[in-house]
Formats: sequence, structure tokens, C-alpha cells
Amino acid sequence: MIGVAILGSTGSIGLSTLDVLARHPERFRVVALTAHRNVERLAEQCRRYRPQVAAMADPDAAHRLASLLGGMPGAPEILAGVEGLEQVAVLPESGYVMAAIVGAAGLRPSLAAARAGKRVLLANKESLVMAGALFMDAVADSGAELLPIDSEHNAIFQCLPGGFRAGLAKVGVEQILLTASGGPFRDWPTDRLATVTPAQACAHPVWSMGQKISVDSATLMNKGLEVIEACWLFGTGPERITVVVHPQSTIHSLVQYKDGSVLAELGNPDMRTPIAHALAWPERFDSGVAPLDLVAVGRLDFQAPDPARFPCLQLAFEAARAGGSAPLVLNAANEVAVAAFLEGRVDFPGIARVVAETLQSTAMQSVEGQGLEALIALDQQARATAEQIIVDVPG
Ligand code: NAD
Ligand code: MG
Repeated sequence: MIGVAILGSTGSIGLSTLDVLARHPERFRVVALTAHRNVERLAEQCRRYRPQVAAMADPDAAHRLASLLGGMPGAPEILAGVEGLEQVAVLPESGYVMAAIVGAAGLRPSLAAARAGKRVLLANKESLVMAGALFMDAVADSGAELLPIDSEHNAIFQCLPGGFRAGLAKVGVEQILLTASGGPFRDWPTDRLATVTPAQACAHPVWSMGQKISVDSATLMNKGLEVIEACWLFGTGPERITVVVHPQSTIHSLVQYKDGSVLAELGNPDMRTPIAHALAWPERFDSGVAPLDLVAVGRLDFQAPDPARFPCLQLAFEAARAGGSAPLVLNAANEVAVAAFLEGRVDFPGIARVVAETLQSTAMQSVEGQGLEALIALDQQARATAEQIIVDVPG
């Protein structure tokens, strides 16, 4: 029996992970579950999956969880705060950790799991964008197994030679072709984008996901973060990565080799496929996802991303090329801007504007050899700058 801890079990990826685990009860045991403040859902998950430990990032929510589960036989030990999440990430009873917290909040616990040498199923792309060098070094030092959950990166991993570690040129790869659905505004006239509401931005045409990543998919910042994520995961620079808009999201990404071969991974757009792949790897098992019906799909379309409509993608490519603290600043500004958009404090085009201005007003620096605390301090500074920009020029 393999013990599994799920960081962010109440979210979209968390729920899909529990669904896959429940299909293989002979193989996995849920050891720990965590959430931010959704007490009711975590309590319900605890009753169903009987973890040993449950943690809530919000200390008040942890108290409420404790009182809700008080009378339950075999109630889990309840931990609280960021320290509680880090404790969950390193529990000796779990060999696998699903890192599915959204945003920068996922960095500390995801890194703790990597340092502890776990099999890390990484959905929290923001960890790599913020602290790629530190994270990849931790994986190398501890011997952790890092398996990508992001569907594109999982697809790329599947299209690379078995046992691939890093260095695309060494294995004859010319380009990584990262597919993007294009989000809900792919065909909107650019001048209408200022009218986009949070509800429209969160209604993704293909994938059902948490709010933050849904907005990121609508601005294409999600694809930009994924370019940076791919650089770290596959040991390459952004010059080997091309983004292709593919509205059906049937092809999850492709790898183009020197000899002209292009390998792709296809399937229905359902995150249970990459989750099952990473849980079973190097084997395969059932994920609950229906087989792909190519005739029903009918056609596969491709187009180049429109830089005027999606400035966030360009900003992310520039940050990837600049390196140093630029990706971290990009990520921090984006998180602040997306939260402000969801609260109605900036309009949709304002997200890219806040990110661009934060990047312009920040003196970039090398992050070589910088530890976690120094990176988190830079993240905090960039957030303060972005907040100030929002206050100064409300959109
Ligand atoms: P979500 O919003 O549905 O869930 C987020 C989870 O993180 C919840 O369990 C929530 O309680 C927890 N959380 C939120 N803020 C927290 C905090 N401050 N401290 C501790 N826990 C906190 O998000 P999601 O869509 O499941 O995405 C999770 C991660 O996976 C993101 O990094 C996202 O980019 C990535 N991802 C998601 C999908 C998808 O299909 N949803 C696909 C690829 C990658
Ligand atoms: Mg993705």
C-alpha cells in the first residue's frame, strides 16, 4: 500500500485525485488531506477517506474542523497553518505527495515534499515559476521523483524517451510544442475585452478548473507560466518552446524531434488522465476517463496565438528569457492582478497592464544560490508593488 498525501484536496485537482485513488483502493491509502478554509468539504473528505492527518492553512478553519470531526471514531490529527501543510508534505507514512495548492501558497509545502524525497505529483506550477532552481536542486539532492500533472507537461513527459531527466538537445529534441485552448476569448474582438466579467473569464470552454487558473487560461498567462514550468522540468530555454493554439484540447502537447518526427499525446480533456499516469508510472491503470472517440472529435484545429489579444503570453516569454527574479515577479504580480480582477478592482486587460508595470518598476536580480526565505521576500515585494500600481491607476 502506498500512502498518499494531497495538498489542496478540496480543489479541482484534489477532487480528481481522490476520484482516481478511489478506483485503486488495493494500491493506495489516503494518509493526509489539506485545504485552505473549506471546512465542510474537508470534513466530508475526512469522513469518507479516513486520513491520519488533516490540515487547514487557516487556523480558525482548523478549529472548526476539529469541532466538526470531534466525535468521529478514528478522527484525524488536525494541523494548522503553513507549518501544518509542511508537516503533511513530509509525513513518513506517505511516499507520494500530490502538490495541488493554487498559487505561491503551494511553494513551501511542495518544496518540503521535494526535499523529503517523495514522489511529487506537481500540479502547482507556480512553485517552479517562483523557485525553479531551488526546486530542481532539491529534487536532485533528495532523489525525489518529480512527475508533472499539468496536462501539457505530462504529455511532453510521455513523448520523451523513458527515463528522460533533462537536456532536450541530448535526446534529439528540436522543439516542444505546447498546446493552448485559447480560453473563452480566443475569437473576441480585442476592444470588447474590457467588458469581460469574472464569471465569463471563469467559464472555460473545455476544462473545468479552479478560478485562478481559469482566469490565467483566459489571459493566456497560464500558458506563459507553463512555458517557464517546461523550461525547468525539461532543462531547456524558452527558445525551444513554441505555443500553438488548439481549441479542442485533444492534443495535450507535442515533441518535435530532429528527424522530423513529432510525437503527441492525445485524450479527452480530463485531468484524471495525467493524475493516473503519474500515480501509476511507470505502469498504466484505469483513470475513469472515457476512451477518445476521434470520429466524434472530427477535426483538430491549430492557430498561432494573437499577441495583441494575449499580452500576458509575451510578458511571460520575456520573463523566461530574462531569467533571474523576473519569472517570480511576473507570477506575484499576476496573482495580485487576478485577485483584483475577481474582486472587480481592475478590468480584464488591466491584468496584463499590472503585470507589465510591476515588471518595469522592479529591479531584477540574480536568484542564483538564493534560499527560500529570500525568494519569498522578493515575492512579497513584488506583490506590494503590484498592489500599489492597482491603487494608483484603478482600471
Ligand atoms: P482550486 O482553486 O480548485 O483548488 C486549490 C486548492 O488549494 C484548494 O484545496 C484550496 O483549499 C487550496 N488553497 C488555496 N489557497 C491556499 C492557501 N493560501 N494555503 C493553502 N491551501 C490553499 O485550484 P485547482 O484548479 O485545483 O489548481 C491547483 C493547482 O493545479 C494550481 O497551481 C493550478 O495551476 C494547477 N493546475 C490545475 C489544473 C486544473 O485542471 N484544475 C490543471 C493544471 C494545473
Ligand atoms: Mg496546463
